[in-house]
Amino acid sequence: MNNITGHKNVCTEVVAKNLCIGCGVCASVCPRENLKIEFNSFGEYNALEIGNSCGEKCDLCLKVCPFYNNKDNEDTLGKKLFAETPGIKHTPETGYYIDSFVGYSNIKSHRENGSSGGLATWTLEKLLTDNLVDYVACVSPNNDPEKLFKFKICNTPEEVRECSRSCYYPVETSEVIKHILSHDGRYAIIGLPCFCKAIRLAIQINPKLKRRIKFVLGLVCSQLKSKFFAEYICALGGGDPHYLKQVTFRIKDPNRPASDFGMKFVSENGMNPSREGVVFWTEGMSRIWCDRYFTPNACNFCDDVFAELADACFMDAWLSPYRNDNRGHTIMLIRNKDLLDLIENPDSEKALQISHLPIEQVIRSQISVIFEKRKAISERLAHCDKEGLTTPAKRVSQKSKLRYDSRLEIRSRLIISQSSPDIWLKCGKKLKEFYRTMRLSRATLVLIKWCRGFIKKIISWVPIFTSR
Ligand SMILES: Cc1cc2nc3c(=O)[nH]c(=O)nc-3n(C[C@H](O)[C@H](O)[C@H](O)COP(=O)(O)OP(=O)(O)OC[C@H]3O[C@@H](n4cnc5c(N)ncnc54)[C@H](O)[C@@H]3O)c2cc1C
Ligand code: SF4
Ligand code: SF4
Repeated sequence: MNNITGHKNVCTEVVAKNLCIGCGVCASVCPRENLKIEFNSFGEYNALEIGNSCGEKCDLCLKVCPFYNNKDNEDTLGKKLFAETPGIKHTPETGYYIDSFVGYSNIKSHRENGSSGGLATWTLEKLLTDNLVDYVACVSPNNDPEKLFKFKICNTPEEVRECSRSCYYPVETSEVIKHILSHDGRYAIIGLPCFCKAIRLAIQINPKLKRRIKFVLGLVCSQLKSKFFAEYICALGGGDPHYLKQVTFRIKDPNRPASDFGMKFVSENGMNPSREGVVFWTEGMSRIWCDRYFTPNACNFCDDVFAELADACFMDAWLSPYRNDNRGHTIMLIRNKDLLDLIENPDSEKALQISHLPIEQVIRSQISVIFEKRKAISERLAHCDKEGLTTPAKRVSQKSKLRYDSRLEIRSRLIISQSSPDIWLKCGKKLKEFYRTMRLSRATLVLIKWCRGFIKKIISWVPIFTSR
């Protein structure tokens, strides 16, 4: 599909096919300022044309888009970036890596306010204080109820510290990348795997970004959520989702394991008294997360688990014994020698409590994300192909080798991710209405899960099946 002038751009090739994740990189490199990043009606960021028209033959936005079929993918870009690094290793799951660690920052507020062990914040701060960069671009809470989080440029450790914690809410980079393009300096930026890919693609075509962006840090990502996720959790906690004013993800409770974290909300509509609350993972958040409610469609077609193009990737230590310690542990996968030097520096010894973690353990900590992004994705690709829907080129096969019951469960979740935003809107963001309208999808999924559990039990009872 082309736009009115017959020109192909991200709006015709990516947004129109519901594959935009809203990273914002296209808008920052458009020489005619023809693109901006706006929320669509489903609370997801999307690129939007603003009518300045594209330059003849210009395809810069497509060249940087992580969901357009460019000739480079995570394998080819990863090879260009890291294959020559001394001591580099590779696994198909993680991409390149030099070393991997588990632990936490001893600097109290890092761990206390961090999602897990605060190692991402420690690294960003250390890059600043050791004068390896002048600025850090990370995600900060924002005072606008329509946009509760945003990317921000920080140049003090205190500012970086205020950006701790994960943000399960849409954010976009167009403003910070435009800032980097117009202000000289050395920058580090942190992002989800698809954002890291877009930034690497942009660095490839833009010499200024290549000169200025010194470090790209990444987070493991199972999926992003639209604004509706935070609204839903607010409603679940008794708040008014129409007047959500503030959200803090990853609240730690000393009486719960690290995996049972909470989301704190404040909702205020001016007429009723403001309402605050915390909803924990086991109090309804896990089902909405795991069953892929409010997950942008692009995430259904993402095969990068470990931010393969980042200089270092950070993730939760979802492994025993770390997962039971509510104070949190981060796993860190390093691909850049400068970052390895940073943590192996004697100065860092006091600040960090870390130890080596074998790569097999790193992989084991993300086994469910690897399943989603390397196995379940094949089923989604095959399903969409059958339905005639466009999907991006991926590194995995379109042929699903999973058992029929597993494939049914994946399809069921795909339907939930695609239908839940519309239903949330149509139900006026009222929980009861939402549950009623979603009941068929929910019941189908519950039934499939029950049957799968039953089949698993039967298989475990009959040794002849287990040996197959
Ligand atoms: C959407 C999302 C999905 C995730 N999925 C998984 C998962 O499935 N498994 C897993 O192990 N880990 C996942 N993570 C990563 C995990 O939540 C922690 O961020 C990671 O363990 C680092 O913890 P930390 O305490 O070291 O980080 P902190 O010290 O808390 O620092 C986190 C840093 O990340 C930045 N940041 C937060 N959110 C975003 C964002 N959306 N985009 C860019 N930068 C951001 C913050 O500004 C801060 O600088 C996910 C994170 C996000 C945002
Ligand atoms: S570059 Fe990012 S914002 Fe632009 S179309 Fe692609 S995914 Fe969307
Ligand atoms: S799942 Fe993939 S596409 Fe979705 S936000 Fe995470 S990295 Fe991006």
